[in-house]
Amino acid sequence: MGARGDIGFEPRLLVDGSLVEAASGRTFPNVNPATEEVLGDVADADAGDMHRAIDAARRAFDESDWSTDHAFRKRCLEQLQEALEAEQEQLREELILEAGCPRMVTHGPQLDTPLAGGLTHPAKLIDEYPWEVDLGDEVSTLTNQLTARRIWREAVGVVGAIVPWNYPFEVTIHKLGQALATGNTVVLKPAPDTPFNATRIGRLVAERTDIPAGVVNVVTSSDHLVGEALTLSPKVDLVSFTGSTAVGKRIMEKGAATMKRLFLELGGKSATVVLEDADLALSCLIGIAPCMHAGQGCATPTRMLLPRSRYDEGVEILKGIYESVVPGDPQQPDVLCGPVISARQRDKVTGYIQKGIDEGARLLVGGTGAPDGLDKGFFVRPTLFVDVDNAMTVAREEIFGPVLVVIPYEGEEEALRIANDSPYGLAGNVMSGSLERSVALARRLRAGFIGLNGGAGYFADVPFGGYKESGVGRQNGVAGFEQYLEVKSVAWPVG
Ligand code: NAD
Repeated sequence: MGARGDIGFEPRLLVDGSLVEAASGRTFPNVNPATEEVLGDVADADAGDMHRAIDAARRAFDESDWSTDHAFRKRCLEQLQEALEAEQEQLREELILEAGCPRMVTHGPQLDTPLAGGLTHPAKLIDEYPWEVDLGDEVSTLTNQLTARRIWREAVGVVGAIVPWNYPFEVTIHKLGQALATGNTVVLKPAPDTPFNATRIGRLVAERTDIPAGVVNVVTSSDHLVGEALTLSPKVDLVSFTGSTAVGKRIMEKGAATMKRLFLELGGKSATVVLEDADLALSCLIGIAPCMHAGQGCATPTRMLLPRSRYDEGVEILKGIYESVVPGDPQQPDVLCGPVISARQRDKVTGYIQKGIDEGARLLVGGTGAPDGLDKGFFVRPTLFVDVDNAMTVAREEIFGPVLVVIPYEGEEEALRIANDSPYGLAGNVMSGSLERSVALARRLRAGFIGLNGGAGYFADVPFGGYKESGVGRQNGVAGFEQYLEVKSVAWPVG
């Protein structure tokens, strides 16, 4: 990528309306996972910087009319949308470079799809949402008076938005869109591995919009615990977190002291249930999903359940698919599987692959070594395990790498039991020749985001999120919007 100067990486924090360095002057490097080269340095905030950002967000919420001026908020979101669209191609190159995300994925969920709806959908809801509901007059049993009854919906307050590295722009823009449209102020804390897309947004907020000082703050840090200040501070009302289940649980525990409102989008181990009457070739195509962006997607269907009667046939198709996926340079338009984010993540994924072998899963394609010809960058071989028992570690834990496990089953009831036998419940797929059969099974799946017969419901107005240990709450749709609102019930005597 020769034209890095044109991309314009932003190294500064946004605190209280100003683009600033960390008070300590410290920075940390942002590394390209495909080449291991340093892309540039970014401000390394400490707890003091974070508290200044929290204080600014608190002041902006308490002392400005941001939370009540709907028309102004809408205009500001439109300005930010325009500014982002003007830099869409720089953002694309930036995401490919810092997240190692394949170019083709930026045309979908990594950039173009969330850019189309992440701000515009909540901005539209500002006009459409019933901010005040009249429940009608009733005689109160407390006062014996005829009483007018209203429900008002109001912003929660200061939102701490904590973002992972896998789909950083997607997660950030949905959090910002919903939190700002509902009238909250935000402290955004990107993952240390992918800070530049967030600092770019910070610069655009400061330079290209009328968003008042303190309404949006962006704090980058190499230290995860700087983000923990958001959970611990009594000045933060809601933590909106996307990331691992382990950190989600920690936020829940540490946030209890100040009764934090929580929105947690966490991990998954989603299953594709292929029923006997399904189109097997089409069903097995879903099996390629863990190769996309090297499997670093929370909703990726990483368990494939095949009926015994068609097991060998399905395994043969999947083997062909996995042998055909060649990991490589994410800049290339035909590459589906780029690197994972870091050496640490690569070692974690290959550790899981070794564990699968040790526990007796049959390794059909891939393995622990680096892919041929890729001696730089954090690449992992697309790996297919078959004859997997759902009790094995590779079937239970989120690997977050290009690894698919294939599990045989006997009869629909067993398929359902295996699919639901997971601590997670984020997503899933059901494949059948009959929509009726798929629908019937989907009603019994304990997961929040289900595709039937190849359908994929990824839209800004469709709620996304999980059951069980996959999280609390939903991103997107009205359900996502409402998570950033409090309910105030108001009554007065009539006549
Ligand atoms: P992670 O949990 O390690 O980190 C996520 C973010 O939390 C980072 O910004 C990190 O700095 C911050 N963080 C870490 N410890 C913290 C603490 N104690 N307090 C506050 N913030 C803290 O996750 P990751 O490794 O960056 O991302 C991968 C995980 O994210 C996977 O498990 C994946 O499934 C999940 N994920 C879920 C969704 C979803 O919508 N459900 C979407 C994307 C990623």
